[in-house]
Amino acid sequence: MFKPKHVYIEKEALDYTLGKELKKQFEDMQIPVDILESNRVNFLRGKSVQEKYEIGKRVLVIGVRRTLEFQSCKPSAHYQLPLVTGCIGKCEYCYLNTNLKDKPFTRIYVNLDHILKKAKRYTQTGKFKPTIFEGSATSDPVPVEPYTHALAKSIEFFAKDPNTRFRFVTKFTDIDDLLHLKHNGHTEMRFSINTDTVIESFEHGTPRAKQRIEAARKAIKAGYPVGFLIAPVFIYPNWKEDYLMLIKMLKDFLPNEESQHPITFEIISHRFTPTAKNHILQVFEESQLPTNEAERTYKYGQFGYGKYVYPKEVIAEIKELFEFGLKHLPFPYEIKYII
Ligand code: SF4
Repeated sequence: MFKPKHVYIEKEALDYTLGKELKKQFEDMQIPVDILESNRVNFLRGKSVQEKYEIGKRVLVIGVRRTLEFQSCKPSAHYQLPLVTGCIGKCEYCYLNTNLKDKPFTRIYVNLDHILKKAKRYTQTGKFKPTIFEGSATSDPVPVEPYTHALAKSIEFFAKDPNTRFRFVTKFTDIDDLLHLKHNGHTEMRFSINTDTVIESFEHGTPRAKQRIEAARKAIKAGYPVGFLIAPVFIYPNWKEDYLMLIKMLKDFLPNEESQHPITFEIISHRFTPTAKNHILQVFEESQLPTNEAERTYKYGQFGYGKYVYPKEVIAEIKELFEFGLKHLPFPYEIKYII
């Protein structure tokens, strides 16, 4: 369970029951709690990029979600469901390093009821049937779940509506409190996994692959639709053996017959933007993340900017490896994409 070193609460959040309860809870835990007069966070002002990152990763901000216009979330879902912003993990390649570079802390929201009410309105437009909401577009929501209960409430909320689906992805394993919920199969839990070489090298502060697979096993047994995101796939000495070993762990540790839904796979090779590389190297000066442009192809994406991706021959090798490896799984599965 994430235990922040410092908690900041927006004054307005204290108008909500959850805000008051969390203030008391953290004070009882002897964690310093400061009240912010506005939603403008300035406790990191004047700090270097590295200091901001180190301090921010141990800070929890409790606030009120003001923007209730949900962003689109292609191709994973129709809309982002803004439950949490930021993450306690320190993955070197993470897109949050770029998107939230001045705010490397985790922010949770006390007005979940407003957020879910807004989700209902999006569903009622009837534009998408079912309407799919993604709960982890700007965060990994699991480490702060014991404080927010946002996933639990969302799962139960979406379970009641046949026209909605909810999904989230995590690298963390603390999901036991979600197992007994009535989800009606409307929530898909996805687990982001990688080889232990990648986890040890680049995914600091996150659980090992076996622990994540163990959490997935529990979710399957609880009847949830479950998927795996194998991402980012890196090419390094012995990468093929390591990724086949990872698939073997799935074969060994997941139940063969208990899944009521095919297990889904989304497989994404590593890619980076020049801006992301620049920021990563400021935070992780000694980073061994493979970001040599000469070994990549520059490709424009659907959002109008380019990324350095592996050359197409390498992507073809990745596809071949995963299609071959997953064929040996003894349970029904569906490969959504390998890119
Ligand atoms: Fe980013 Fe996910 Fe790692 Fe958190 S766990 S730092 S969201 S990649």
